[in-house]
Amino acid sequence: MQQPDNRSSSQPFKAALRVALAYFVVSVLWIGLSDRLLEILPMDGATRAQMQAWKAWFFVITTALALFVVLLRDGIAVEAIFQTMRASEQRFRSLFERIPSIAVQGYTNERKVLFWNDASARLYGYEAKEALGNRLEDLIVPPPMRDDVRMAIRNWLDQGIPIPAGEARLIRKDGTPITVYSAHVMIENLEGKPELYSLDVDMTALKQAEAKLRLAEVVFERSVDGIIVTDSDNCIISANEAFCRISGYSFEELLGNTPNLFSSGRHGYSYYAQMWRDLLEHGYWHGEILNRRKDGEIYCGWLTISMVSNEKGAITNFVGIVSDISEKKAIEARLEHVANHDELTGLPNALLLRDRASQALGASKHEGNRVALTVLDLDHFRVINDSLGHVIGDRLLKQVVARLDECLDKGYTLSRRGGDELIILFPSITGNEQIRVLMERVLQQFATPFAVDRNMLVVTASLGVAVYPEDAGDFDDLMLKAETAMYSAKQAGRNTCRFYAEQMNADAHERFSLQNRLGRALDRHELVLHYQPQFDLKMGELVGAEALIRWADGERGLVPPGKFIPIAEESGLIIPISEWVLMEACRQAQTWRDAGFPDIQIAVNLSALQFKRSNLIESVANALKSSGLPAQCLELELTESILVDDADGVLRILCELKALGVMLAIDDFGTGYSSLAYLKKYPIDKLKIDQSFVRDIVEDDDDAAIVHTIIQLGRNLKMTTLAEGVENESQLAFLKVEGCRIAQGYLFGRPVPAAQFPAFFTQTLP
Ligand code: C2E
Ligand code: MG
Ligand code: MG
Repeated sequence: MQQPDNRSSSQPFKAALRVALAYFVVSVLWIGLSDRLLEILPMDGATRAQMQAWKAWFFVITTALALFVVLLRDGIAVEAIFQTMRASEQRFRSLFERIPSIAVQGYTNERKVLFWNDASARLYGYEAKEALGNRLEDLIVPPPMRDDVRMAIRNWLDQGIPIPAGEARLIRKDGTPITVYSAHVMIENLEGKPELYSLDVDMTALKQAEAKLRLAEVVFERSVDGIIVTDSDNCIISANEAFCRISGYSFEELLGNTPNLFSSGRHGYSYYAQMWRDLLEHGYWHGEILNRRKDGEIYCGWLTISMVSNEKGAITNFVGIVSDISEKKAIEARLEHVANHDELTGLPNALLLRDRASQALGASKHEGNRVALTVLDLDHFRVINDSLGHVIGDRLLKQVVARLDECLDKGYTLSRRGGDELIILFPSITGNEQIRVLMERVLQQFATPFAVDRNMLVVTASLGVAVYPEDAGDFDDLMLKAETAMYSAKQAGRNTCRFYAEQMNADAHERFSLQNRLGRALDRHELVLHYQPQFDLKMGELVGAEALIRWADGERGLVPPGKFIPIAEESGLIIPISEWVLMEACRQAQTWRDAGFPDIQIAVNLSALQFKRSNLIESVANALKSSGLPAQCLELELTESILVDDADGVLRILCELKALGVMLAIDDFGTGYSSLAYLKKYPIDKLKIDQSFVRDIVEDDDDAAIVHTIIQLGRNLKMTTLAEGVENESQLAFLKVEGCRIAQGYLFGRPVPAAQFPAFFTQTLP
């Protein structure tokens, strides 16, 4: 690097002159002394004169000699000084030139660069040769600062006010800003001229570190997660606000304590041992932890602990970050409960049952025990539900569950699959006898009526049991078999228990195939209506006919409605079937009218499903319209269960039906859960007394009383009463005496195909 030569020779010359002056003074003293000696010493005049001459010569020679020696010696000394100074300057120059992290620049009093070390080149991007001779402000001072810089340097030069060291934001050659810490010195060069030196340190890394530190501080303080820092002895040295909030301790209370303070006692030794092993081995640990707050409450936290080591590998700190996940856990538990449990009873649902059953089956394979599955279905639950409403039905179900829960041993799973169907899983059974005892105990629970609100409800249950591995190889199959057994219990008269047997399976298949065939019955015109006459007891003449469906199944022959109507209702097939019945009955009645027979009322049975799923009003209106049958010739039979369900909706439909002009009758009256309130409210024309009361009317006083009461009730409510299932004269006589208006039964005629029915028009009662 080219630097201007600033050497000056004035200093060594001054020194030489000083030395010469010293010789001169010494010489003068010598002359003075020699004069004095000449005076004191005894000598003659000639000798004295000669001596004087010699003294003068001596003075001249010694002075000349002295001057020569001095000049020679000082010349050497001056050169030595020059050399020393040059060496010294060279040392400092190369020191400043090479010093790695301090950018040193020298400026003339006109702020022109006269020195520019390597570090300056690296820091500011200008090579020394580019910088030298240029002005400071044109190189690295941003335009807005230039005036201030000029002013500051001027003040220093003129008034001796130094520029203080400090941070400065300068610019690089490429225009990017750079923050430096800059210190300045003003020196005088050998020529006595001032030179300004600037020593700059790059602050970028420091600034970045500072920013990082500030960020870390903000993160630490504002984090919603609790953060604590301990020293290598695991004593807490720092904790953020969130941690104080979560733990309930103030920072002062935490300081110096170890995290043992939060121990909940819920984790065993092995838990903590594993935590420390992981920490020391991998440098971190994370997992769920149950901690205790200051107020004693236990909370679930998600904790991450990291180990911090110094450059020598020694542990210096542990940093723990904890988030309170109690609420999340509670939500998870709630969701899991909802996903796996029945809402009404809180029992495990089908999903959880399947899970437990698979575990039981798996265990059974290893341990050789057996697994039993019981399907429990309440008998006639629908009647209760329909007649007393769902609220009562639900409460009853809860009571049933409570009783069963109490009577069963631990280890079983009682689960609800929907409706009134409960499943009991017995995961470890030794033999059939054990199950039989258990099932008896279950049935026994239904011996006492259930008090629900103000009702005492007598409910029974049908149970079906299947056993693994005898009856089935997996859960689905086991379930199917238990269900089949339950249906068999129903068929056996309900309120009983059946074990699965192959025959039952066959019955289930039969049911399934029946449903399949029924689906095709309408299209194949296999459905027919038979008509049963209804006679007026006073006048003795035919007043009506009940249309009763029959299925002429290609495979089985005539199938009675009791066998296929429930299947049609379950599968929804009842809707198209009912539409067909309505149309066909109206068509037939009108055909008889057209043939000149007197008007009678044709009674059509309605299904509950028609009220819920079909547009009943439209169907009735269509049937009347397309057949031409006057509305008063059509009577619709409803069951009591239809009337109590969805009371407002039903009332609206009944009123609309009534507005069409059709008659409304309650079928099988007395068998459902009747309420006098709805009898009064609904526009009902007729009560059909159920045949179960008529059957023993003569022998059974209770039945006689019931029939008597119903007839009175009808009279008071201005409704016609009809007795069903009249089979003999004594029943007829009783009904006549009681004042029952109409009767229907084998005594007058069985249901017959339409073609045979006209005979009844001419028949009269005796
Ligand atoms: P229901 O409406 O009470 O019909 C009367 C039932 O009693 C008929 O049985 C009839 O054959 C029978 N019955 C009549 N008189 C006597 C008698 O003196 N003694 C005895 N023991 N029984 C008698 P069916 O035809 O088997 O019908 C059974 C039930 O099927 C009907 O009871 C009705 O609830 C239902 N049903 C029949 N046809 C239809 C229909 O088209 N639609 C709907 N939804 N249900 C129907
Ligand atoms: Mg009927
Ligand atoms: Mg009936």
